[in-house]
Amino acid sequence: MRYTLYRWSWAALDLLFPPICGGCDAPGTRWCPECQKNTARIKTPHCQYCGQPVSGQDRCDRCAESLPKMTAIRSWSIFDGPIRNALHRVKYQRDIALAEVLMRPVVTYVHDLEWGIDIVAPVPLSKNRLRERGYNQADLLAKPLALGMGLRYQPKTLRRGRDTRSQVDLNLAQRRDNVKDAFSATSKVVDGKAVLVVDDVATSGSTLDACAEALWQAGASDVYGVTLARAVLTSN
Ligand SMILES: [Zn+2]
Ligand SMILES: [Zn+2]
Repeated sequence: MRYTLYRWSWAALDLLFPPICGGCDAPGTRWCPECQKNTARIKTPHCQYCGQPVSGQDRCDRCAESLPKMTAIRSWSIFDGPIRNALHRVKYQRDIALAEVLMRPVVTYVHDLEWGIDIVAPVPLSKNRLRERGYNQADLLAKPLALGMGLRYQPKTLRRGRDTRSQVDLNLAQRRDNVKDAFSATSKVVDGKAVLVVDDVATSGSTLDACAEALWQAGASDVYGVTLARAVLTSN
């Protein structure tokens, strides 16, 4: 019911302020059928741990070397084409209505994974970054997911204690170091609970790993991650 209201409130705003498509700027819709069609989903087979596409085996090369800290990570789409534009809009223009429509299919997708989640939480920004930007893009995605699944939304489950630099130009080892011990979690909230951490894009998975460490330490019974998109991995 709350999810229906949430969706309706954004649909009502669409009537007042006709939207443009977050993928291609076409007028009249937040996320047009063409962009939906041109968004590449992650196909099976994929690694059962990190969700990266693989050719036949049950885990990718990276997970064969060392498993992610999360029980499982899944991404809904490949970070490319219209979804890349759309996530840019969510991240830099605070397009909450676009985030809501992008997450609709993810609600069904995560529901069908049958993970047994108790709590949904976004990957947090640091206090400084949050003050600068005014909002957390992962929060815009995680909230409608929690509402859609009828689960408890706990945006303050994780905290990001220190500022971390942008991961964009870093290789895998640098990414791990960059976010190591950056997060903490409140055991009062997560103790004995299965937590789903939500982010916009997964690249190396090191941010989700660092979140998982904090959640395990705080006593979570299970830790899962889902991102709307996943960057195609290169050799670093
Ligand atoms: Zn479009
Ligand atoms: Zn993997």
